[in-house]
Amino acid sequence: MTVRTRFAPSPTGFLHVGGARTALFSWLYAKKHGGQFVLRIEDTDLERSTSESVNAILQGMEWLDLDYDQGPFYQTERFAHYDAAIEKLMEEGLAYRCNCSRERLETLREEQMQKKEKPRYDGHCREKHVAADEPHVIRFRNPESGDVVFRDHIRGDVRFSNSELDDLIIRRTDGSPTYNLTVVIDDADMEITHVIRGDDHLNNTPRQINLLQALDLPVPEYAHLPMILGDDGARLSKRHGAVSVMQYREEGYLPDALLNYLVRLGWSHGDQELFTTEEMIRLFDLKDVNRASSSFNTEKLQWINQQYIKESDLQHLAILLAPHLQERGIDVEVGDHLVAVCEAQRERARTLTELADISRFYYEDFEEFDPRAAKKAFKGEAAGALRAVSAKLAALSEWQRDPLHAAVAETVDALGVGFGKVAMPLRVAVTGGAPSPDLDLTLWLIGRETCLRRIDKAISFIESAA
Ligand code: GLU
Repeated sequence: MTVRTRFAPSPTGFLHVGGARTALFSWLYAKKHGGQFVLRIEDTDLERSTSESVNAILQGMEWLDLDYDQGPFYQTERFAHYDAAIEKLMEEGLAYRCNCSRERLETLREEQMQKKEKPRYDGHCREKHVAADEPHVIRFRNPESGDVVFRDHIRGDVRFSNSELDDLIIRRTDGSPTYNLTVVIDDADMEITHVIRGDDHLNNTPRQINLLQALDLPVPEYAHLPMILGDDGARLSKRHGAVSVMQYREEGYLPDALLNYLVRLGWSHGDQELFTTEEMIRLFDLKDVNRASSSFNTEKLQWINQQYIKESDLQHLAILLAPHLQERGIDVEVGDHLVAVCEAQRERARTLTELADISRFYYEDFEEFDPRAAKKAFKGEAAGALRAVSAKLAALSEWQRDPLHAAVAETVDALGVGFGKVAMPLRVAVTGGAPSPDLDLTLWLIGRETCLRRIDKAISFIESAA
């Protein structure tokens, strides 16, 4: 049997964290078993589905590199399949037309609530033979007795009594099929072997199994993933910050880091926190998914992101950083220089946005010197030291780290002062006081023209303050 999993989002919003985790677990399970992963867009709710949302979902999947072997399939293009199934159920007497009015259903509901019963349709139209030309919905004739039992990969044995289920609507008055019907037809047509989805769908599963059985279709295996909560214990929602996974991109998260974080939301492998994609595929198993809900923790996500920034291939990091600098109006290209900036700065950043912010001074003149750094560095003979070192730097034939280092050392010797008396003002002059790597590397990265200009500015600053 080839394992086939699917991700079946409804395009009524962005790809959010919960959806991305469902997609990831389904993707991992398929990859692990050398199977296939299918993307299906459940867009039959015409009022709430939008093409922007479809695009946002596809974009999110692409950013996370969750590639699919088949799809995207769109349910709105598959109405003929649903109609055929509904016809079949009608012919076999397993479905019936119902024309109960809204008022009748409302009264029924109120009565049941008063009797402390679970509100459910009472089968009023089962034997009524409502005519086809009257406005009606079609209901599935759910078995009246017995239990629906299935083994969930995460929750173990799950049992529902048919007496708790009612005859669900499979076609609305406007002729459109409903969720539970479309899902079972698609899962069967797409030969899905494992349905991995959020546990908010657990109550749908017995209905879907009954439908599958009525249609003589194979019942897949199920795994219902526990909820993700926000740090306040409530179900993760917009209130907790990022809505869309693309927002994490804007905020400077690496897609691999987000995947790594998501895989740990409910799944664990010993105490290991960091996983390459290959490790995730190899180690992931549904049986290790936690039964309890997990909490979203931004600090942990930041920590994981920081580890990825520290360990990533530098060229890759430069490619990811470039758009963040460009957004800040810095005209930067991916090349040796940007790679060197990444190498020099990455220890100090948790996100790409932080990395962009702390790297700005390499490209862009700062407004003013950090007052504390300036106070410390620009005192005594600082202006003289800066003049001397500036002359040396200006005269260098090569703007490279070794000659830069030598120029500073020679200035120190010529002035007969300690290294810091030259290095400190020079560093603050060119960086404004921002944390920076070795002095020769800092000078090299900033470039000759900018360094000399900034040194002049520092000298004027010191002299105007004197
Ligand atoms: N379309 C459903 C949703 O977005 C998922 C259906 C399923 O996975 O069975 O919640």
